[in-house]
Amino acid sequence: MKVTEHIAQAKDTLISFEILPPLKGKSIDSIWEHLDPLMEFNPAYINVTYHRSEHMFKKRADGSFDKVEIRKRPGTVGICAAIMNHYKVDAVPHLICGGFSKEETENALIDLNFLGIDNVLVLRGDAPKNETFFEAHPNGHRYATELLQQVVNMNNGMYLEEDLQGGIKTKFCIGVAGYPEKHFEAPNLQTDMNYLKKKVDGGADYIVTQMFFDNKKFFDFVAKCRENGITVPIIPGLKPLTSKKQLTVLPRIFHVDMPDEFANEVLKCKTDKDVELVGTEWLIQQSKELKAAGIPVLHYYTLGKPKVVQQVVSSIL
Ligand code: FAD
Repeated sequence: MKVTEHIAQAKDTLISFEILPPLKGKSIDSIWEHLDPLMEFNPAYINVTYHRSEHMFKKRADGSFDKVEIRKRPGTVGICAAIMNHYKVDAVPHLICGGFSKEETENALIDLNFLGIDNVLVLRGDAPKNETFFEAHPNGHRYATELLQQVVNMNNGMYLEEDLQGGIKTKFCIGVAGYPEKHFEAPNLQTDMNYLKKKVDGGADYIVTQMFFDNKKFFDFVAKCRENGITVPIIPGLKPLTSKKQLTVLPRIFHVDMPDEFANEVLKCKTDKDVELVGTEWLIQQSKELKAAGIPVLHYYTLGKPKVVQQVVSSIL
């Protein structure tokens, strides 16, 4: 079922979770161990992230180096199919531009369609680790809007081979990313908003946001989206803060601000266990306020912390 159908049929705020594929070499059991404690909350759907390959240097016997491409977390499509089979819950695979040709994307979409997966979250992706700027695959997409157009084309029965006649029309429900605190490359919030509007006008069915720790930023973002004529559902992305290190790491990686009051509480903590308690309580309060405001779905980035998310969700249901 599509994410938008879940939202349309819901009587109350829904819950969804986001997971990462395990590192290469690990078994799918690590996914079940991660998700099992969360399934009691009947998530409407589960997102699975996509990870591009990274460039690594491998030392040869003669001391010189080979540049090799390694994908550390493969398996998004397989994990989505396994989740749907194992839990009978919808899965939402992320699709990224970075590192993919249009043909590879088309083949992935064909696989997803054959597997009965109705949803995709389309994203640009970031530059590989150790590189500063995002560069598109020579035969790929530069922006999420272009990837979105490819999915929309397939939904209209248009494949890359122009002379292919009568191709089936896929029916993907398409999500895109939004940034309450602005995407880090955008010159300002309005320019970023204009591109977000372009994604929605281009066929995006809903928006999932980057994590934020200050609900006001989210509410202001939703208001700005509505002023700009964006009417699709906007789903907040929520992440628990569980260590003191994250107070500086998360702003650096995800370009988000930590509210004063929250940062001060975390700084007072003596151990990471204390930080986890403060982070859990903060996320419970954020979730309660968002739920009270009638937000359609609370989307939790579980990122290795299913127990904390379990505690948060059980406090708000
Ligand atoms: P875009 O919408 O393409 O925007 C990128 C930048 O370009 C923005 O600054 C925008 O303002 C600008 N822009 C957009 N369109 C144009 C245009 N036509 N011309 C000029 N400028 C333009 N990354 C992963 O690798 N894997 C994942 O699974 C993943 N999941 C994510 C899930 C969520 C909910 C979020 C919020 C992010 C996720 N990311 C993931 C990270 C994401 O790929 C990065 O934030 C990336 O830098 C931007 O992706 P985007 O889809 O928002 O890009």
